[in-house]
Amino acid sequence: MKIGVIGAGVMGRGVAQALAQSSLSVVLVDIDKAKLEQAREEIATQLRFRGLFGSSGNLEASEQIMDRIEFTTEHHSLSDVSFVIENATENWDVKRGIYELIDGICQQDCIFMINTSCISITKLAAVTTRAPQVIGTHFMNPVPTKKTVEVIRGYHTSEECIRAVDGLMGSMGKEMIVVNDYPGFVSNRISHLFMNEAAYVVQDQVASAEEVDEIFKKCYGHAMGPLETADLIGLDTVVHSLNVLYESYQDPKFRCCPLLRKMVDAGLHGRKSGQGFYTY
Ligand code: NAD
Repeated sequence: MKIGVIGAGVMGRGVAQALAQSSLSVVLVDIDKAKLEQAREEIATQLRFRGLFGSSGNLEASEQIMDRIEFTTEHHSLSDVSFVIENATENWDVKRGIYELIDGICQQDCIFMINTSCISITKLAAVTTRAPQVIGTHFMNPVPTKKTVEVIRGYHTSEECIRAVDGLMGSMGKEMIVVNDYPGFVSNRISHLFMNEAAYVVQDQVASAEEVDEIFKKCYGHAMGPLETADLIGLDTVVHSLNVLYESYQDPKFRCCPLLRKMVDAGLHGRKSGQGFYTY
């Protein structure tokens, strides 16, 4: 079975790697050649080092896994895939343009899986001619090692589509939790309030980023603090998501912290740019 993956950024490269490691053929599409090259290098590195962190028995050769991924800038290469997992930039106009385009390229029975932090699945499904086959799949980062996916049922998503996606997730060794469609779903609607308020706490000089994160880890037993999480996601993506939440609910509780906006304007995008609340 062949799977299309759109977007070769933080999430798309993780999704492509996880699929290829599960013996599936992948077509990875990005408009940016440099992103595709970075993705190729990063996936190869991740595969080479995976034995150091996980089980070391009977690992398939990295080259063999890499051979299952086709890297391309051509959306037309998605004409014969069974599923598309789209991980493009968290921006309505970008995603809308992609769904209008691929709806005319992919086969009628191809399922569209939207990886988004906050954008409405129902609204994106409406720009296609196949709303019952459109579903949200909010993967966790880093995709190859995170076992659970938040799956979002759009207004028209069919039970058949949910079963097909469950089958694909099963072959990737992942389980899913299915929720209904409202912006931010469960995870991001709640976590973005945490991350945003943590940024306000730093802005107001109540505590440093390290101190905020330590409180969450040591007092609450979280694996990561909210600001480390924001850096991992990408501060630009966090700001995009807060904007979507603010516009969607028209609720001031989602107003983006000015410090977050300033950091993004200054090019501090978190882990992927080498600098965010922490230096990498
Ligand atoms: P990113 O900025 O790292 O990557 C986005 C990629 O999309 C870029 O490489 C860009 O060139 C590409 N792109 C833009 N327009 C395109 C087009 N028309 N066709 C093909 N590729 C195109 O973003 P990311 O962090 O990987 O996030 C991707 C999606 O996943 C977003 O919707 C985000 O909200 C969601 N998400 C992110 C995380 C996270 O931790 N970063 C977690 C879960 C979900």
